[in-house]
Amino acid sequence: MKALVWFTQDLRTHDQVSLSKACAENQSVQAVYCLDPSWFEYTEFGFKKTEKFRARFLLETLTDLQQSLKKIHIPLEVVFQKPEDFISNFIQQNAINRVYKMTEWTAEEQKVFHQVRKNTIQEVQWIQNYDQFLFHPEDIPFKTIAQLPEVFTEFRKKTEQLSRVRAALPEPKMPIENYREPQGKIPSLTDLGFEDFETHPNSSVPFQGGQTHALNRLDHYLFETQNLSRYKQTRNGLIDADYSSKLSLWLANGSISARTIYEAVQKFERTVTKTEDTYWLIFELLWRDYFKYISLKHHNKIFYLGGILSRAYSWKQNPQKFKQWAEGKTPEPFVNANMMELRNTGFMSNRGRQNVASFWAKQWQEDWRIGAAYFESMLIDYDVHSNYGNWIYNAGVGNDPRDRMFNIKRQAEMYDPEQNFQKLWLNQS
Ligand SMILES: Cc1cc2nc3c(=O)[nH]c(=O)nc-3n(C[C@H](O)[C@H](O)[C@H](O)COP(=O)(O)OP(=O)(O)OC[C@H]3O[C@@H](n4cnc5c(N)ncnc54)[C@H](O)[C@@H]3O)c2cc1C
Repeated sequence: MKALVWFTQDLRTHDQVSLSKACAENQSVQAVYCLDPSWFEYTEFGFKKTEKFRARFLLETLTDLQQSLKKIHIPLEVVFQKPEDFISNFIQQNAINRVYKMTEWTAEEQKVFHQVRKNTIQEVQWIQNYDQFLFHPEDIPFKTIAQLPEVFTEFRKKTEQLSRVRAALPEPKMPIENYREPQGKIPSLTDLGFEDFETHPNSSVPFQGGQTHALNRLDHYLFETQNLSRYKQTRNGLIDADYSSKLSLWLANGSISARTIYEAVQKFERTVTKTEDTYWLIFELLWRDYFKYISLKHHNKIFYLGGILSRAYSWKQNPQKFKQWAEGKTPEPFVNANMMELRNTGFMSNRGRQNVASFWAKQWQEDWRIGAAYFESMLIDYDVHSNYGNWIYNAGVGNDPRDRMFNIKRQAEMYDPEQNFQKLWLNQS
């Protein structure tokens, strides 16, 4: 049988379910990735759906993936075309019998998948696998997704107690005869419509995309520096790379799996130390899972103005306010510094994200979806479930049982008492 692995947000060779299954079940395996031109178009809000930071990181990731796949004798074709236009033709031209792909359920991804299937005239087996979770959907202790608790703590406690994380899969390999050179070249940043740019010297994420860099970062954060043993105490930091793991960059496009991180933390706990700090990284990965489950449960409601609560507020849509917020020109210096960091680097700390989101949605009562769409555009680590899940949570239309509004001045005093973070960013353009 001839297989195609259609890569999406699972851009790795280690612990990759679709890839491992395809290699185990077929005589021939090829791989494709489509850079959809619509990702680089302007949204209704006047900014691009994907900005240069994530675009560059993605290209680095694909280059790394192509090299890793070559080592296991699988050719990866990367095209700057819609999957709807490319994949059905590829299936036909290469007489593919089986297509392996990560299961995705959000609206845009579903639409693409259905269209690709519709365009495929040939008889093909479509094999989809959940591969973005720490705890697999078949293993969580709730009979149906509808029974999933709305409150994080309940989800976490039951899941931790009653479920187990599946073992990470080893990297598979095909025989050398399986390999042929890919036909096309990976597009450049210019091909995608951006100019090359330098990483900002103040960036707390001066990293490259790709599995190789993800695994290096994991090793650095855990074993080289042992920063994991201080994680809970430092994770609310704002400056430099090591106050938190920064693994979100690679988790978001799947160049590392949550299971691989889990196993590394377990090894650290066995060989170095096991404390509340080491546990806390797993705790945060559970938040990541939780937002994926919330999205799986509520589907498109995570994108609705009223969120999963269908709650009506009097939201405003003031373009001038948006400009002020995005350009870091609000009356709140702490918000401004965070927005300047995002604008210059494609990253913002978790503390920063909570504050600027609360300011936008709660203080200014501006349409939270515009803030979320701006994050989607700018963030290197943009992940549909984490972004929209956190935004509805912070905007009061999601799962925050306490519906809090941040006191920005107090937050700045607590987390930036010497104003070092504000000084770092407020004089930038
Ligand atoms: C408004 C808002 C929007 C956000 N948008 C995104 C997004 O698009 N993509 C994204 O990955 N994270 C998002 N987050 C969550 C969080 O801010 C980032 O995951 C975190 O800052 C990434 O840095 P880190 O890897 O160093 O995190 P660490 O503190 O080292 O945490 C380890 C990992 O745990 C997960 N995690 C931590 N906090 C959260 C959280 N609140 N929700 C979900 N997962 C979490 C991430 O995968 C992270 O890599 C958002 C948070 C807010 C408040």
